[in-house]
Amino acid sequence: MVTIKSKREIELMRNACKVVAILYDELEKKIKPGMTTLEVDKLAEEIIRREGAIPAEKGYDIGIKGIPPFPASICISINDEVIHGIPSKYRTIKDGDIVSIDTVALKDGFNGDAARTFMIGNVSKEAKRLVEVTKQAFFEGIKYAKPGNRIGDVCHAIGEYVHSQGYSVVREFQGHGIGRQMHEDPGIPNYGKAGRGIRLEPGMTLAIEPMVIAGKPNILELDDGWTIVTEDGSLAAHYENTILITEKEPEVLTILKK
Ligand code: MG
Repeated sequence: MVTIKSKREIELMRNACKVVAILYDELEKKIKPGMTTLEVDKLAEEIIRREGAIPAEKGYDIGIKGIPPFPASICISINDEVIHGIPSKYRTIKDGDIVSIDTVALKDGFNGDAARTFMIGNVSKEAKRLVEVTKQAFFEGIKYAKPGNRIGDVCHAIGEYVHSQGYSVVREFQGHGIGRQMHEDPGIPNYGKAGRGIRLEPGMTLAIEPMVIAGKPNILELDDGWTIVTEDGSLAAHYENTILITEKEPEVLTILKK
């Protein structure tokens, strides 16, 4: 079911989303080569809790036998890892890495969800272009996130832009509605046909999240049951924000207002 948030619920969504916005602002300044991914996780958890929220990914259980609940506060995926990487004390961030972080803050019953790919030190030109295209794909998509348009218009715009840049979108994972639940309807793939799917209405809150691969779109899941990597070993990037559909332009809730 697609939920339409009331005025009060929108305020609570704004508050939850602001926690994630603050988190990424701080992480951007603090992530350095030599840190382990577990150190980044601990830092992120401290910031989320300091802001009065709970890291909603910690203990998240997808309900499949044999796959343990997610053990950390953030997903952290480096280079050819696409999403859902597990923080580890054995994994060190290096100069030149691209580091994708995805997290959800739960505050007063509502979820804020966003992801960024951070460029660490001197990254290659190709990696930089991938990160920039992935971010731009989000903004190309939300040009269509207006009342009267359909969700397929957003999906189509993201896919078309990514493909026009010579990259692939991940097909097995998608954006989603968000609110009291981390994942609500509708599903929001990063490709699709314009003019299809639900009609957008003010009060909908949606997590739009291009996951882009520099090479072929095929992915693999590692034995940990979580980490998704590119099959061909090429780089991947992720950029996500939670947005609010309004009467006019969408409001991006997980970027701090200047
Ligand atoms: Mg997310």
